[in-house]
Formats: sequence, structure tokens, C-alpha cells
Amino acid sequence: MRLPDTIERTIVAIPGEAQVTPQMFREIRKELGQSMADFGWTLKRAINPRAKHPYSRQYIDRLEKGKDVITPALIAAFYNIASKMDEVPAGTGGAVAVSVIAQPGQVVDGAFIPRSAKVVRCARPGCAVPFVKTHPNQKYHDPECK
Ligand SMILES: [Zn+2]
Repeated sequence: MRLPDTIERTIVAIPGEAQVTPQMFREIRKELGQSMADFGWTLKRAINPRAKHPYSRQYIDRLEKGKDVITPALIAAFYNIASKMDEVPAGTGGAVAVSVIAQPGQVVDGAFIPRSAKVVRCARPGCAVPFVKTHPNQKYHDPECK
């Protein structure tokens, strides 16, 4: 029995599900900076977090070229990956950039200082260097200030 066109369209489109195009797969992979092989893992794990085998590089290539069907599971996986990319990492919401001084190579640009970190002034009279404590009992910004 053939379904009326309207019903068939409804089933195929899945109400409320946005369309995902081959180009969108290509773009999200580039945004992630992943190879086709890496993205095979990302996509597979977005469907099954315990997957033991990735999608093959060849399969990803076919998906990106529109040579394979983009199933509802793949659409869900796409949005799963995309929404994780937009998430603000835990604890960093509302954080601001400040300038700090550090020895060359010690702190990378954009490094996050955990909220539990305490900034205090050096205890040596006359030394007003504020510093991030690296030990609970630390009173001086440098051993030379003791
Ligand atoms: Zn000091």
C-alpha cells in the first residue's frame, strides 16, 4: 500500500527536525580541526558513546559529498556535536580576561585560573606584588621576599 504523499513527507522529514546537509558535516569537521578519520570517531561516539569502531574515512567522505543518506541518527549526532561546541566550559561562564605577569612560557594566553585560587599581596613589608597562591600557607610572592 502506498501512503498519501503528505503522510510520507511527514514521516521522512520528522517534524521539528532541522535539515543537515553534506556541507554542514564538512564545515563542522573543519571547525573541529579533525581529519576524516578523527571525525569518524566523533560522529560515531555522538551516536553511541561506547562505540568500539569509528565510521570509516571513506564513509565520512561519502557523507560530505552527499553520496550517502543522512539518517535521523546522523542528524541527531550532528546537533549533539554542534551543541557541545557552543557550550561554555564549566566554571568559565562570566570569566573575564585580565593581564597577569609570568615567566616566559609559564602561563599560556587565555589560561583559566580556577575560582578556588586566592590572590594575595606579598607579606614582605614594602613589597606589594599580588600573586596567585600555589600553596595554602604561601605568604611571599617569591622565596627572596622571606
Ligand atoms: Zn614579595
